[in-house]
Amino acid sequence: MYAYQESPVTTPEEHLGSNPPEKLGDFIAFGTGSATGPSGSVLGTRGVEMEALVQLGLPIRQGITVPVGSAERLTEERSAAEAISLVSDGLPLATHLFRLSASAPVAVAGLPPELLCLGLSLDNFEQHAETLGRPDELGAVWASTIRAVAEHALAVPAAAISGVVLDVVDPIAQAQALLDLCGTEGRAPYPSGVAEQLALAARVMLTRWASPRAQRARRAQGMASDLALALHLEDQLIHSWEQMGRGIAVSRDSETGYFSPHGHFHSGLAQSTTAEGGHALAVLPIGSDEVSAAVRALETASRTAVEVDFEYSPAGVRVIGFQADRRPTARTTVALSVELAEQGVIDRTAALAAISPDAVSELLHARFRLTGSERLLVRGLPASPGAAIGRVALTSERVVELAQTGAPVILVASETTPADLPGMLAAQAIVTSRGGSASHAAVVARGIGRPAVCGAGDLNINPATGEVRAGQWSVREGDTISVDGWTGAVYAGTIAIRQTEPTPELRTVLGWADDVRRLGVRANADTGQQTEVAISLGAEGIGLCRTEHQFLGDRLPLIQHVLLAGDSDTERTALVALAAAQREDFRTLLRAVGDRPVTVRLLDAPLHEFLPHHAEHANPADAELARSLREENPMMGVRGVRLAVLHEGLYPAQVQALFTAWLDVAAEGIRPQLEVMVPLVSMVEELSFVTALIRREAAAITERTGVTVPYRVGTMVETPRAALLAGRLVEEAEFLSFGTNDLSQLTFGLSRDDVERRMLAPYLEQGLLTASPFVSLDPDGVGELISLAVTRARAARPDVKLGLCGEHGADPSSIALCDRLGLDYVSCSPQRIPIARLAAAHATMGSRDV
Ligand code: PEP
Ligand code: MG
Repeated sequence: MYAYQESPVTTPEEHLGSNPPEKLGDFIAFGTGSATGPSGSVLGTRGVEMEALVQLGLPIRQGITVPVGSAERLTEERSAAEAISLVSDGLPLATHLFRLSASAPVAVAGLPPELLCLGLSLDNFEQHAETLGRPDELGAVWASTIRAVAEHALAVPAAAISGVVLDVVDPIAQAQALLDLCGTEGRAPYPSGVAEQLALAARVMLTRWASPRAQRARRAQGMASDLALALHLEDQLIHSWEQMGRGIAVSRDSETGYFSPHGHFHSGLAQSTTAEGGHALAVLPIGSDEVSAAVRALETASRTAVEVDFEYSPAGVRVIGFQADRRPTARTTVALSVELAEQGVIDRTAALAAISPDAVSELLHARFRLTGSERLLVRGLPASPGAAIGRVALTSERVVELAQTGAPVILVASETTPADLPGMLAAQAIVTSRGGSASHAAVVARGIGRPAVCGAGDLNINPATGEVRAGQWSVREGDTISVDGWTGAVYAGTIAIRQTEPTPELRTVLGWADDVRRLGVRANADTGQQTEVAISLGAEGIGLCRTEHQFLGDRLPLIQHVLLAGDSDTERTALVALAAAQREDFRTLLRAVGDRPVTVRLLDAPLHEFLPHHAEHANPADAELARSLREENPMMGVRGVRLAVLHEGLYPAQVQALFTAWLDVAAEGIRPQLEVMVPLVSMVEELSFVTALIRREAAAITERTGVTVPYRVGTMVETPRAALLAGRLVEEAEFLSFGTNDLSQLTFGLSRDDVERRMLAPYLEQGLLTASPFVSLDPDGVGELISLAVTRARAARPDVKLGLCGEHGADPSSIALCDRLGLDYVSCSPQRIPIARLAAAHATMGSRDV
């Protein structure tokens, strides 16, 4: 069927012209309907589409529209004759047949199919068959028209028709048999005159449209069952089979996104080109340039990638219809928007609006080329986008070992802890059976840019046997799996990957987004390398350096020694070692940051992640101490600032490392803007206590070195109490950063590590939630707390800097909320910086629209 049964991509209003309609009785010639206010309610969607094509100066078939509500007139032979003479005006009738199609005022499925070869009779069949050179093809098309007329206009019994169709295989003989049947069983014989045929064809259209089945179908689409039809009569050229045909041209190459018309065509009388097959457009025998020009014109006019339905013959190319490319790739959307803006067809804001943050994400992370034949092992939460293939390893150590052989490896574990960092870094992707989108595995995977699937609860992992079971499937360590961080699917074996990288057009778009957005965009980056990636992707600074992430893997003992020091001397020694290691790390980080702002969060070490596990620990005294420190509820235990209150030397040691590193890089001419941030505060008194320690250490450094390191002190707002007390926190804090992972966890009272896996799907299914609150910021509760905190903080300290650094920092709807709440910046993982830049621009544009 015609592709144009879909809604035309160009609205009639866009093609209003000043030509008066060529009103030909009740008929309107294609391209002259503008002054009727070329709406579908008069011209039908096809008539409107023809207006658009004519306005663009594109070649179309000669034709007329019988307006909506007048279709019945065409069933009268006199009107039909008038219509034929209008369409054939100036055309050599000898080579012409006619086609009749229908459209409704709005796009609707279930329109009666087009009827072709009107005007064909036994008298002229030979002549047309000879011109075409394929008598059978002409016979087949003719037979289908005769059949429709026989059934729906001449009341030939359906059983008789089916009998002929089944018994007579030869198409010409079938057409002849159907003609005979009309004569013997029909209300009247099939006429040989073109006007009489057309009148009957119009009756076919109306009968089909009025059938109870068609009415039911319209009601099912939410349309009136008595929706009226417009009819369209067009000429049908017959040339030699080799020299005529019909094709579909798609404007853009989906891989590159660039203008490159491609598609396929069928020679001869092809009625529909939506089916696959045929020949490649590249070998079109006639009119390649015209097709390209038409595709370009339609793309520019409709401002979207298009699929163009056309026919060709020695008379030239004629556009039959067009529609928006149904599945444009991200590359296509970005490349087209940039081209149109650079040509001045649209402005930059419109170009930005046309590109979704999801499209940006798509350009940054690989995807699988799925065929449908993949073997799904398990599904979890899509925790970090991308696609990766590798061999299964069940421990961090095993990942490192296997990776050293050069093999790509995937870490599959129940969950990850800081000790797993070396394995996570060496892995291509991470799969966990526990944890949600704000769990350790998810946060780290996003930070280091690895695809991750978390909370795949059906996984049964047995490191002792090296086996992983999921329902009826099982894989062993060393087997290859494919991890889809977009969908949360884990497949057995290898799947082809579509690699991606930021295109030049994406860089252009993001530059435009930067010109528009109000919100700053910073990165959550813990190392120099992550910072470099973040800055190359456009981060304006670091909004969160989680210093505990600098002690992962084999550096873990540096923290453990502090936590497990039995006396103050041992603790002091442990702190010296910790500070020395951190100074190194900070130096690398600060060099990468340059003169930009960098928010360094002092240690926030949930004990369960950092304490040694009993079995692994050689020293029984330490093991005993570690056991005694274990908590039932570690995310609400001795974390963040609380640890610093219990270990008073901890934050000063970190400040010393940070400030001396700053002095080191300052000597090289680099001046990062230091922001020292205190985590998990809930009491003003806690903050005062540790800021005094921080300031005292800073003063001591000044005294020792004679240099005053410029810095600000601030705090995270991660507990509801901190949000409520923001007005008082800013007496100490020069900036606040909303840690919405913990703030969401504590506001809802939902464990960020556990609930998504079990609760999310049923809550979403039952409509209790519309998104995970750990992915999309809850505007009603958490958002309200932030709003209150912003108001109170600004009232008390008008110049306070306000940011957000939870995982919501790259979520477009959360970014829009941050913009509305008046925050200064959002901070997110390095790979997601481009998404945040565009989403922030959209947020600004959205607020302008209001
Ligand atoms: C937060 O809680 O939002 C945050 C950024 O801190 P973390 O994820 O390290 O707890
Ligand atoms: Mg937190």
